[in-house]
Amino acid sequence: SPLAALETAPIDPIISVSEAFFADTNPNKVNLGIGIYCDDSGKVPVLDCIKAAEQKFVAAGKPKYYLPMDGLGAFNRAAQHLLFGAEHQAVRDKRVVTAQTLGGSGGLKVGADFLRVLNPRVEVWISDPSWENHTALFEGAGFKVNSYPYYDASTRSIKLDAMLTTLRGLPPGTIVVLHACCHNPTGLDPTPRQWQQIRDVVKKAELVPFLDIAYQGFAENLHADAAEVGRFADVCPLVVVASSFSKSLSLYSERVGALSIVTGSADEAARALSHVKRVVRANYSGPPSYGGGLATNVLTDPALRQQWEGELAQMRDRVKSMRRQLVEKIRARRADFDLNYVIEQRGMFSYSGLTKAQVGRLRDEYSIYALDSGRVCVAALNSRNIDYVAQAIANVLVT
Ligand code: PMP
Repeated sequence: SPLAALETAPIDPIISVSEAFFADTNPNKVNLGIGIYCDDSGKVPVLDCIKAAEQKFVAAGKPKYYLPMDGLGAFNRAAQHLLFGAEHQAVRDKRVVTAQTLGGSGGLKVGADFLRVLNPRVEVWISDPSWENHTALFEGAGFKVNSYPYYDASTRSIKLDAMLTTLRGLPPGTIVVLHACCHNPTGLDPTPRQWQQIRDVVKKAELVPFLDIAYQGFAENLHADAAEVGRFADVCPLVVVASSFSKSLSLYSERVGALSIVTGSADEAARALSHVKRVVRANYSGPPSYGGGLATNVLTDPALRQQWEGELAQMRDRVKSMRRQLVEKIRARRADFDLNYVIEQRGMFSYSGLTKAQVGRLRDEYSIYALDSGRVCVAALNSRNIDYVAQAIANVLVT
């Protein structure tokens, strides 16, 4: 058989943690591995704004003709305004193109394929560490992927000097992937001052910033969390942005995201879009209409939009409250450990500082699943499992 020598592909480490979780029969099991927001009852919520958007979508009864390759125009406008603001100069100049993609992953992949058409000789640099799939996505587009220093585990801070030194030494045109907010996996974002230093270096070294924003709304609010997108667009002639609604609209399975490209002129933007469409056509021809239609309804209907911002604030506040409670509950049991840094981290994840051996004990002795790196999804904690998790962590912490 032509497949006789085919070896099984390595399993994605995040998915394999979830598979082990589902196979576990312990009724107390907790999955802190995958990056999904669950409400206090432990379920992935269907937001009320989405329920209303679904009714509106069905009532409109539109035929299911193919969408354009770049998706719904109304979605693209709304997604672009959400990132940059409708008044951003690049938006007003029509220098930004936005295309609806299959989630944030689709935005990354179409953006990577586009950049490869633009310049196949450049390399890609991602943070150390970064979201596991960044490497596979950019390698899949044909790029060599390297990593710049980012997280210092000993001080739980950003290795800013080393990061800037590395970026300064890269050839012009090099693609630098940056997490616009809620860095995955560390939860540690640059301060405004550090962002400014990063922007200055990216601009001066003529690098191409590729901003990945998958958690807009989970740090402070929709507007503040996207601030870096607009600021990079202010200073760099080419900025690529992959954004996702998977978490912010709790629409994981509908695959709703966008690719935005900031160019130097309306004419460049039109040419860039022609290549984006070509990439999409050669990959999957066009996005589906349902998820994009729901997102459009939420983003463009003022009442639904307001409802969404309220529901998003609830999700954000709940995660923050879980962070605080986890730290306090562990402190109550183990006064010798200060986990305060967990409170400061942003988004759904915490780089907990747990070692691989401790993560192994949590899994084997308590059926609590985290990633070997010590990344835990704080958004999976709730009032029923938090005491159990805090106790288990207190038990495995060693001085
Ligand atoms: N980028 C980062 C940093 C992510 O964490 C994720 C989702 N885990 C994505 C992109 C992809 O988002 P989506 O699920 O919308 O494809």
